[in-house]
Amino acid sequence: MPQRLEELHHIGIAVKDLEDAKRVYCEILGLELTSEITLPERGVKAAFLETGNTKIELLEGIGEESPVTRFVDRHGPGIQHICFEVEDIVRVLRELADSGVRLIDQEPRPGAEGKLVAFLHPKSTTGVLIELQEK
Ligand code: ZN
Repeated sequence: MPQRLEELHHIGIAVKDLEDAKRVYCEILGLELTSEITLPERGVKAAFLETGNTKIELLEGIGEESPVTRFVDRHGPGIQHICFEVEDIVRVLRELADSGVRLIDQEPRPGAEGKLVAFLHPKSTTGVLIELQEK
């Protein structure tokens, strides 16, 4: 079987307030903030922190309909998704769909770092929201 998911790229953490979360993760826990982006069309503000090979993506929802806002309303702040790198996202999505995995995104779209991303439905992945990001 060709390789599908590769390195763990980042862990997405849903927060209520990005500035508060940055204070905790940067000033108290000592991680380095490397980039920040606001994506109004996706309903998120994101900050990336460096930890070595794997990043931390802090996410604050914008508006009631944001998936991040809904996650925080339902579960409280916490780990919302994990993201793996893939070599060819279109091929991997097709193969996973053929294997019966439910896709949230049928087609990849640009993510917070400008690379192509797609999400797999947690119902197909033991309750974990998985993001794929093309290398
Ligand atoms: Zn992510």
